Amino acid sequence: MFTIAKTEATRGIWSSTRNMPDAPGRGMVTVDVIAAGICGTDYHIYNWDAWSSGRIKTPMVIGHEFVGIISAIGEDVTGYHVGERVSAECHIACGECHFCRTGNAHICENTSIIGVDRPGAFAEQVEIPASNLWKVPDAIPDTHAAVFDPVGNAMHMVSTAKVTAKHVLIVGGGPIGLFAAAIAKAHGARSVTVQEPNQARAAIAHSLDLDLVVNPLLPDSTSKILDLTDGHGPEVVLEVSGNGRALNEALAIAAPGATVALLGIPGGPVELDLGAKVVMKGISLLGVTGRRMYETWYQVEAFMLKNPDLIDKVITHVLPATEFERGFELMDEGACGKIVLDFQQIEHRLSA
Ligand SMILES: [Zn+2]
Ligand SMILES: [Zn+2]
Repeated sequence: MFTIAKTEATRGIWSSTRNMPDAPGRGMVTVDVIAAGICGTDYHIYNWDAWSSGRIKTPMVIGHEFVGIISAIGEDVTGYHVGERVSAECHIACGECHFCRTGNAHICENTSIIGVDRPGAFAEQVEIPASNLWKVPDAIPDTHAAVFDPVGNAMHMVSTAKVTAKHVLIVGGGPIGLFAAAIAKAHGARSVTVQEPNQARAAIAHSLDLDLVVNPLLPDSTSKILDLTDGHGPEVVLEVSGNGRALNEALAIAAPGATVALLGIPGGPVELDLGAKVVMKGISLLGVTGRRMYETWYQVEAFMLKNPDLIDKVITHVLPATEFERGFELMDEGACGKIVLDFQQIEHRLSA
């Protein structure tokens, strides 16, 4: 089968032909992939940065956000049938550790992630535990169902930071920041600002009809944010850029008592002025990872059913899977929102 894989321990990503997975094992299903989103995580792996080169064992089929059709079911799987359309939570939690047993499977200490630790969804078929599947309602189109995972990251962050009636600043206008902006608005934020230097991404933010879109490289960005937030600064900051300097600036402008949620992953350690900008201001710093299983998934499904237009605005490209290189080039240029790869046109698909 056609796959997109990290075959060499260097920058880049390559197509590679693999055998179809064997019949699914106990508790597992095989899914024929319809479409899959390119994630920031995939871009980290493409760039072979410190995080990915320390974690990924090549060769590895990447990709973890997808929708597909169940094509085979293993022993002891109940509640699913062949032909059903599903997405899936890509974090496979152990179900047995302290964190799983206290309702915190998203921080399971034995997590295995598809497309990172085990074969991923940039393939004609992917094998996954039935317990991780999510049945997709007919009203949600394939391209939207393919991005449950990143919308889930955004939903988890917005829900955890509690934005209702608050001035919210989102640092970074990539897909998760844009999804977060749309969700924060829907959750009744008093104002939503996106801070993004890239013009293409700022234009998408403008299309979401937010209160303010600022370019942090221009000198008036701080005064614009202070004007909008009664001079106090934002009460909630959602940091999705992973940029240490942007985080320091966000801590400086955040209102005293603000909640600052961090989801962007910096390339290395970040130096913070903790005394002046966190302790003395009474700031709550909040790390956010993954999605709550499966509370976040219910929230995302409800949001997608009610706001298909907003999801459409953030998905800027749907490319044939064989043109994946173009997708990664677009991410290099930052000239895109969310990119979805279409796996349905692969010529040698078994079912064809
Ligand atoms: Zn993802
Ligand atoms: Zn666990």
